[in-house]
Amino acid sequence: MTFTNLSTHSFTAHQCLHDVFGYTTFRGEQQAIVEHVVAGGDALVLMPTGGGKSLCYQLPALLRNGVGIVVSPLIALMQDQVDALQQLGVQAAFLNSSLSTHEASAITAQLMRGDLQILYVAPERLLMPSFLSLLEQIEHNIGIALFAIDEAHCVSQWGHDFRPEYRKLTVLHERFPQVPRIALTATADALTRVEIVERLKLEQARQFVSSFDRPNIQYRVTQKANARQQLEAFLEAEHANDAGIIYCLSRRKVEETADWLKSRGWDALPYHAGLDSSIRNANQRRFLREEGVIIVATIAFGMGIDKPNVRFVAHLDLPKSMEGYYQETGRAGRDGLPANAWMTYGLGDVVSMRKMLDSGDASEERKHVERQKLDALLGFCESTTCRHQTILRYFGEQHDGKCDQCDNCLTPVDTWDATQPAQMALSCVYRTGQRFGVVHLTDVLLGKTTPKVEQFRHHQLSTFGIGKAISPQQWSSVFRQLVAAGYLETDMDAFGGLRLSETSRPVLRGETEVWLRRDIEVSNRKVSKVERGARAKESYAELNNDPLWHALKAKRIELAKEQGVPPYVIFHDSTLLEMLNLRPGSLTEMGKISGVGQAKLTRYGDEFLQVLEEIANGVDRSSYF
Ligand code: ADP
Repeated sequence: MTFTNLSTHSFTAHQCLHDVFGYTTFRGEQQAIVEHVVAGGDALVLMPTGGGKSLCYQLPALLRNGVGIVVSPLIALMQDQVDALQQLGVQAAFLNSSLSTHEASAITAQLMRGDLQILYVAPERLLMPSFLSLLEQIEHNIGIALFAIDEAHCVSQWGHDFRPEYRKLTVLHERFPQVPRIALTATADALTRVEIVERLKLEQARQFVSSFDRPNIQYRVTQKANARQQLEAFLEAEHANDAGIIYCLSRRKVEETADWLKSRGWDALPYHAGLDSSIRNANQRRFLREEGVIIVATIAFGMGIDKPNVRFVAHLDLPKSMEGYYQETGRAGRDGLPANAWMTYGLGDVVSMRKMLDSGDASEERKHVERQKLDALLGFCESTTCRHQTILRYFGEQHDGKCDQCDNCLTPVDTWDATQPAQMALSCVYRTGQRFGVVHLTDVLLGKTTPKVEQFRHHQLSTFGIGKAISPQQWSSVFRQLVAAGYLETDMDAFGGLRLSETSRPVLRGETEVWLRRDIEVSNRKVSKVERGARAKESYAELNNDPLWHALKAKRIELAKEQGVPPYVIFHDSTLLEMLNLRPGSLTEMGKISGVGQAKLTRYGDEFLQVLEEIANGVDRSSYF
């Protein structure tokens, strides 16, 4: 089924939203954006991941005359996007270097015949003089509905995803001034926004800036004790059957962690740039196409992953910045259902991260910026207030600070006046010569006569044994927070030993108070009910015991396998969840489920109704699972 006459004015945006996409209401700014572009205006859309950007250009492309051209740097994603559109009954295709000459010319022929409603193209292809001339012909004979420039932050030299060809996209405006352009990005910072406007000549475009809050993501930071045990406890308690991403800093750690998880019975796969590309692609494919696969990865994994039901992102190592943290955790819960962002972190992470920054061969200026970014992230880790608020404030946005969706709001953090212990710790660093690590410094404070203490005669120092009233765990917490807050610096020339910083002097002189968070003892603690994620999350986890949920998912995977597409292209989890809750008994009722448009109703309605009926009648479908 196709919608060749969508451009007739009688077909409204709402009708199209309902009939094609199967949704009843627009989200956030979607309606305003769609109406603006349909009317021929240029737009710059800033919306977080999962906000629903695709619809903002797909719908106007269907409503306006001609074909919508979507520029995207993510070649690997185009296939899935086109599959998803075709499932909706939309005539869509892509042109990029992955196609053979023969396949590419077949698509070009379709384009010239006016048989395409949406075409995805890689920027290199779009900018070829021959392709631009072809577009001129198309514009003349058939019409171009719009140009969508996806991942528009790729014009920015300062971001990670800089693509020089993106800067040449101004040619679109020069050669097709009458065709509306819509640029989209999930990058939140103001500088990038200014650069997009400037580089793409979008000064006249209306800007639509959404909130960057991700209310369905629960942020949690936990102190590292035994990271593997902590990770497994988290997975067992909350994500026994879920797909998720675990980020590690090094390739070695990625492989070790994936191996260990596998040995513990988890379906975990490694992903990093050092793996053979065939293994990498196979692992990514399994993650996308199967249910419940865990990917253990370096940050090489993520760009262009639009799997909607990633239920958790775990960090076993620190990200490099708040931007990195936001982007990496943002891959969870694109479908709007509850998801977790979980991180474990300790002093060792701060030391190794600082070491990495200092030893890199970047310019001093760049290192300075990177240090500041890391400091902001450390501040976030140690903060005692709402994490949604801290993240949004970093990106210049307000939040009232009562999210009920982060560890600090769910279990308020106790703080304590640590001025005196901080003075003891700092003076111990000073007296031992500013070159020892935390283990030795703690031994001195606790008054332990170890061989090292004797060797350096540290038992003769005035700080020897002055910290006996404080437990070793608490000292480790004090040192970690002093380093994170910048009162202590790691000295790379002294193998990571600690030294005083400028800010430690006022503390030593008694001019500054130091308040620290009181760590919860991790080792002998069970995962508390509050920490078990949002209430909604619990009900989501309970689904795993529901035979109907398994039966619906089994039907979805069966259909996906038949067609060689990812399961979420058939139906999203949220659509299956609604079927489970509303139990439609007829095609009319099925058509009211969010995510069931006309094409999908015709193709899959009966099959899913049959599953619902069978389970209601007690038919055992477990052999299908
Ligand atoms: P983004 O590109 O901004 O990350 P997507 O376009 O992939 O987000 O959309 C995220 C999810 O939200 C998708 O699963 C999409 O189908 C869904 N979605 C988008 N708009 C709506 C809407 N109006 N109603 C219900 N679901 C929607």
